[in-house]
Amino acid sequence: MTVITRFAPSPTGMLHIGGARTALFNYLFARHMGGQFKLRIEDTDEARNSDAAYAAIVDGLKWLGLNFDGDIIYQSKNAARHREVALELVKNGGAYYCYTTQEELAEQRAAAEAKGEVFKYDRRWRDSSETPPAGVKPSVRIKAPLTGEVVVHDAVQGDVVFGADALDDLVILRSDGTPTYNLAVVVDDHDMGITHVIRGDDHLNNAGRQTVIYNAMGWQVPVFAHIPLIHGADGAKLSKRHGATSTTEYAAMGYLPEAMRNYLARLGWGHGDDEIFSDEQAIEWFTLEHIGKAPSRLDFAKLNHVNAHYVRLKTGAELAELLGVPASMASAIESVKVKVGTLVELKDAIGFYLNAPTAYDEKATAMLAKNGANIPLILPALEALAEPWSAEAVKAAIHAVAEQSGKKIGELMPPLRAAIVGAMSGPDIPDAMAILGKVESLARLKRAVA
Ligand code: GLU
Repeated sequence: MTVITRFAPSPTGMLHIGGARTALFNYLFARHMGGQFKLRIEDTDEARNSDAAYAAIVDGLKWLGLNFDGDIIYQSKNAARHREVALELVKNGGAYYCYTTQEELAEQRAAAEAKGEVFKYDRRWRDSSETPPAGVKPSVRIKAPLTGEVVVHDAVQGDVVFGADALDDLVILRSDGTPTYNLAVVVDDHDMGITHVIRGDDHLNNAGRQTVIYNAMGWQVPVFAHIPLIHGADGAKLSKRHGATSTTEYAAMGYLPEAMRNYLARLGWGHGDDEIFSDEQAIEWFTLEHIGKAPSRLDFAKLNHVNAHYVRLKTGAELAELLGVPASMASAIESVKVKVGTLVELKDAIGFYLNAPTAYDEKATAMLAKNGANIPLILPALEALAEPWSAEAVKAAIHAVAEQSGKKIGELMPPLRAAIVGAMSGPDIPDAMAILGKVESLARLKRAVA
């Protein structure tokens, strides 16, 4: 059997981080099993769909590097096939025409609610021999079992039992001939040969309803794996108030796609205590058995830690390209890349190479007040160095000044840092001065003295 999984987003917004994780799990499982990973756009809700959302999802998957197999399937294009299956179900006795109108249903619902009862369609047309009312276009309802239970054998949740009283005769085809959501999902999953449905556990109830439809068609039910949702650090379901929720935002915040893959794989799945692993390892290790049952929590400190690891793995030239700065910045980037968590921080950290400080921050100002007077002691030694100078030559010159003057290195380097960077952060200062070059470095030192 070839494993076929799918990611089936509705194009109604950005690629949400929860959706990205669902896509990743489907991707990893398919690759682990040597199978296929497909993309189906569930675009049947015309009022909520948008082309922009569709593009954002496809771009988000591309950015994350989750390549899908074959063409994109558009659910809306399969409506005729969904209708055909609904009518086949009427023929085989698995479904029936229901002539209760929307107005009647609304009345019945209101009456039930007035009595404090939960409304459930009374199945009046299920086995009816009444003559259908003239002029009423029927909907089609599935026959849910009246007794017994439906069991979903879930690879994550275990056996989930739906008693007959929890299932109703769901409308599968509306009176206007359009398919409903659960019918469309079942037909598409069947026709696409989907063997494993891995998705958020907010769809667990649908799995019960969908199983009824599979059974009525005599189709093989796929393996379901409903994964717990991602929560924020406070344990509440992830929402805007926890900060970034879409892949687009994470990209803008300077996270690398490989770091996101690594981090998201650990959200709800694990391989022992391994925190950092390659794509190849994730594919080799990924099985459904190790998906957890408890919701996972998004932890930005961990994400930053993972991202910092992947930033360090990149060369200065690669990072320059990602930042959109000239390749000549590669060594400047090398000098600070170990100090940052994100690309945004990296861009910030190389800022002083591109622009001389126009002001000194609070700490740098305090440092210049304390040891700024040491800079003129160092200047002659630096001026005497040949151009181009190296970090080693700069360092040796400063050490020589320390020896001659009796000052400590800790009194000489920090004011240089304040003058060169304008802040007390940044790379090793001889490195920074080597990258900046003699002319620019000396100009900055002289400006600070002035
Ligand atoms: N379109 C559904 C959603 O975006 C997913 C349905 C499914 O995976 O079966 O939540």
